[in-house]
This record gives sequence, C-alpha cells and structure tokens, in this order.
Amino acid sequence: MKDIGKTRFDSERKQMVLELGRKGITDQKVLDAFLRVPRHVFVEDAFQDRAYGDHPLPIGLGQTISQPYMVALMTQILQLSGTERVMEIGTGSGYQAAILSGLVEKVYSVERIKKLSERAEDILLHKLRYRNIILIVSDGSYGLSQYAPFDRIIVTAGSPPDVPKALLSQLADGGRLVIPKGDRYIQTLTVIDKKGDEFITSYEGGCVFVPLIGKYGWNE
Ligand code: SAH
Repeated sequence: MKDIGKTRFDSERKQMVLELGRKGITDQKVLDAFLRVPRHVFVEDAFQDRAYGDHPLPIGLGQTISQPYMVALMTQILQLSGTERVMEIGTGSGYQAAILSGLVEKVYSVERIKKLSERAEDILLHKLRYRNIILIVSDGSYGLSQYAPFDRIIVTAGSPPDVPKALLSQLADGGRLVIPKGDRYIQTLTVIDKKGDEFITSYEGGCVFVPLIGKYGWNE
C-alpha cells in the first residue's frame, strides 16, 4: 500500500512540475527542486489528496502553505547559484525552506508561531533530515542580526508598504530581497537589490499572502 501511495504522489508531483513549467517557471534547477520535495508531507492529512494542486492549503493556526507557483516564482527570482546564505521570514509549513535547502548553502528560517516552527522542525529535520536548515522562533520583522548579512532574503508573509529596515540592513552587498508588500490582504511582489549603498526596487505583479505580524509589520 505504501508503495502505491508513493507512486501516486510521484506522478502527481511530476504533473505539478509540468504545470509550473507551463505557467512560466523556466529555471531547471528550481523545477528539479520541486521534483525532489514531497509536498504531501507538509500538508495536513485531510488535504493529502490536494497536495499537488497549484493552490495554497491551510496548515492550522490560521496559516497556509503557499501555492506552488508562488513558491517557485519567488525561488526563481532569487537567482540562486548554490553558495548563498538565505534568510526566510515565515517558516509556516517548512515547504519553501525545503525547496531552498537543495539550492543554497544554508537556510535560516524564522517563524513567530512556536507551534508551527515545531511542526516544521519535525518534518524538515526529523522526518526528511535536511541538514542545512536552521529554524528560529522570533518576530522576523527584526530580521536575524546574529546571522547577518544574508545573500538573499525571502519574506513569505505580506509586509506593510515600508519594508522593515532591519531586513534591508541585513542584506549583503550584491544581495537580493524578495518581499510581498502593500495592503494587509493583497500585495505586490517586490524585489530589492542592494548595490553598494543603493537599493534598487522592481515589481513582479500581484500576490496574496497572510500578513507579516510584528513590530515592523502589521498589528495582530
Ligand atoms: N513559507 C511558508 C508559508 C508561509 S505562510 C511555507 O512554505 O509553507 C506565512 C507565515 O509567516 C505564517 O506561518 C506566519 O505565522 C508567519 N509570520 C507572520 N508574521 C511573521 C513574523 N513577523 N515573523 C516570523 N513569521 C511570521
């Protein structure tokens, strides 16, 4: 029975990756990462049947695992070569951290809800045994000064229009920050590149994330 389940999920995962390709994800390394990570392990049992559909799903405590296309798009925008130290704000299910794990040197993932971080720890570190992911429980709107600077920063919760300053200051020179920002309920995917003393901003279209809650985010 276990093998039948594995075969089924393998073929659904391949379909999902083909769909990501059709929707415009062209970075083969990113697509390969999606073939490797078992998304069904990150969703709640009740949603296993829908684990490989291209939509977000609830993971408890009012939070969601992001839509695969959005995870893929943000990962592609990060333009990873394999040597980067990356900070993720919003561990959630841990799925985005797992995708990053195979594409970078080290992932530092911050989550404000302890129970979610513990759930992600169980999946990422104990079940799937990723070795280059560090999970931290704190308000990610402060960043992680103790581990800075980061070559890449990815925020997977919606920020207010003013990007938290700590995130900008913890970005390495030549580094890139990807962050949804705007309204509490709908945002614009925003890319900020640090070149010397300059920050260069560009936009990648609309998106919908749960709010970034914290000192330099939204109120609870
Ligand atoms: N990257 C996740 C999806 C994140 S959902 C995945 O792959 O499944 C957004 C997450 O951000 C939620 O778990 C929420 O609790 C968390 N979050 C919101 N505000 C935060 C903050 N200030 N610091 C850290 N995590 C935060």
